[in-house]
Amino acid sequence: MLASPYGECMSEPTESTPVWRPGTVVVAAGRPSREPDQPLNVPVTLAAPYVAGGDREYGRYANPTWTAFEDALGALEGGRCLAYASGLAAIAAVLDLVAHGERVVVPRHAYQGSLGQLADLESRGRVRVDLVDVTDTDAVVAACEDAALVWLESPTNPALELVDLPRVIAAAHDAGARVAVDNTFATPLVQRPLELGADLVVHSVTKYLSGHSDVVLGAVVTDDAEIAEVLKHRRDSFGAIPGPWEAWLALRGMRTLEVRLERAQRTAAEIARRLAERPEVTEVRYPGFGSVVAAVLADPDHADRWTRATALWVHATSLGGVESTFERRRRWRTESLTIPEGLVRMAVGIEDVEDLWEDLVTALERTR
Ligand SMILES: *Cc1c(COP(=O)(O)O)cnc(C)c1O
Repeated sequence: MLASPYGECMSEPTESTPVWRPGTVVVAAGRPSREPDQPLNVPVTLAAPYVAGGDREYGRYANPTWTAFEDALGALEGGRCLAYASGLAAIAAVLDLVAHGERVVVPRHAYQGSLGQLADLESRGRVRVDLVDVTDTDAVVAACEDAALVWLESPTNPALELVDLPRVIAAAHDAGARVAVDNTFATPLVQRPLELGADLVVHSVTKYLSGHSDVVLGAVVTDDAEIAEVLKHRRDSFGAIPGPWEAWLALRGMRTLEVRLERAQRTAAEIARRLAERPEVTEVRYPGFGSVVAAVLADPDHADRWTRATALWVHATSLGGVESTFERRRRWRTESLTIPEGLVRMAVGIEDVEDLWEDLVTALERTR
């Protein structure tokens, strides 16, 4: 069972549909109908125009391979899903819902690409941005006043701070603000923000959902039919659509999400525990679920040498793949200056835990 900060939550059962747990939904949703000779998986449909007279018409409006992926992720998160060309395209679509001059509350340690989009919008006078420390729930609640959108990420990337989602979502709604949660790090198997009251969920599907470091894809899920219509209309007209191959690969990868995540999570917890005993490491952050660990080394140069000296761990950005990767986050000039210089973000994959550990320790000692 995956550790979840909110316990096991499931949709309300109805008379006609069986209630499947998320680990089943991720396998069973988004399949062709069960008629003789139907394949078990939807094929990749490569189409620009469709024969006129139906609902699809053109490849910017609809694609059956996207639909299968969207049905599966929508069923998991509990809303209508729209796929986008990347996580950041999905984020741009949600930020575009904010009207001119309105205020957006955002964690100061949110994903740097989200912060970058908001800074750009603010510099052009499009929105006002309020950066908050999500570990101070009272301050976040106070900041919700007058906001149009409260953007949340829990855990934050790469600080791994947790948001008190139920409390902040309630406060945002009291203040009349919409809430969007970037659920990339937790995945719907650990946390389903729409069930906690959020209006929108965003994913970088690139990460855990597709899981094999070979796809860039994004998604928005909402249980608000009006918002879904606005987003669909704008996706049709702006064209930030996914490719059919990417949607197919993401769905194929998503089928194994629960087993990948269970394995990676177990290994991550063990690696976090062992790292905390190392003299070179001054701080280890692990939120108790998921497979991202942050280790702070006292010497940032040592962190740089370490991340370039392993044989198994790959020095690379990103996370959520079957391969273990790590990097010193401040090597990016765009990373927040409140992230420690020596912080190494470790994205634990599904290799054998002992091989991962030996590789880490060998490189750590050799680069001292
Ligand atoms: C990677 C990431 C994104 C951006 O997604 P892309 O698919 O790379 O565009 C957004 N949010 C979080 C939390 C991420 O880790």
